[in-house]
Amino acid sequence: MKYLFGPVPSRRLGMSLGVDLIPPKTCPFDCIYCEVGPTTVKTRERREYIPAQEILAELEEYLANASQNPDYITLAGSGEPTLNSALGRIIRRTKELTSTPVAVLTNGALLSLPEVRREIINADVILPSLDAVTPALFEMINRPVAGLIIGALITGLHHLRAEYSGQIWLEILLLRGLNDTETELANLKKAIQKLQPDRVQLNTAVRPATEETAKPLTPEELAAAASFLGEGTEVIADFSGSVHPTFILTDSELLATLARRPQTARDLAEVLGMPLVAVMKRLDHLFREGRVSRSQRQNRIFYQTH
Ligand code: SF4
Repeated sequence: MKYLFGPVPSRRLGMSLGVDLIPPKTCPFDCIYCEVGPTTVKTRERREYIPAQEILAELEEYLANASQNPDYITLAGSGEPTLNSALGRIIRRTKELTSTPVAVLTNGALLSLPEVRREIINADVILPSLDAVTPALFEMINRPVAGLIIGALITGLHHLRAEYSGQIWLEILLLRGLNDTETELANLKKAIQKLQPDRVQLNTAVRPATEETAKPLTPEELAAAASFLGEGTEVIADFSGSVHPTFILTDSELLATLARRPQTARDLAEVLGMPLVAVMKRLDHLFREGRVSRSQRQNRIFYQTH
């Protein structure tokens, strides 16, 4: 699979089949907390970075062979999915192919463009992020492409709320000493009250980030921020992954991932963000315990549950 990843267990979306619309790492932002690494192409130019036809062919093949549908098909990936100018076509065709709801993860940078909103509103859930309201903090945390200002991003979110009747789940990623101050939390609270998202989801930098300055809050601090921001705010940070990426998934979650479709160790390592060697060791262990089987196809070893 070139553009699909998973399904992977996601705290926000259950078993989520990821669809990458953008080559790594193309984004209008270069967030200091990004887990994918530094942005190599910082742009807000929209074009068909990956042809819709190729993405949809892969999705069609997956859906035709899948024994079970994922909970969501999530347009996301290692960059900003709204940069793909075929976004609207991809959402529409996906909805023709399956009744599985479509989610879009976005940093919101392009939501000020009417055409982007016209395309994205066919999704069932939109998950935009908003990390700061104060321009200096926005610059410091998200490091946007030149000319992109936080006021325009927030206006785009307002327009989206007015034009879209589906679910908006707003993610805020809090960083120690930056956007976790009383003042910025109060600014964010005011913005949330105006934006009226259906959910507010708090996160922090629990995994290795692009910059060391991206420091996480503790679970207690996040809980306090959630209660300050008000009813309906939930903490989604997964602290189980903070010790070492190897511990992101339990064996039963790994087995659930494999139960959906056979995967190679390399597929799993990419999908789970774990080192290949660690994945191979765990698969070997599960194989020796008789909990997964192996088969060879086209010189590749696939693992699956029985
Ligand atoms: S918006 Fe997302 S992909 Fe882009 S730099 Fe920030 S965290 Fe990384």
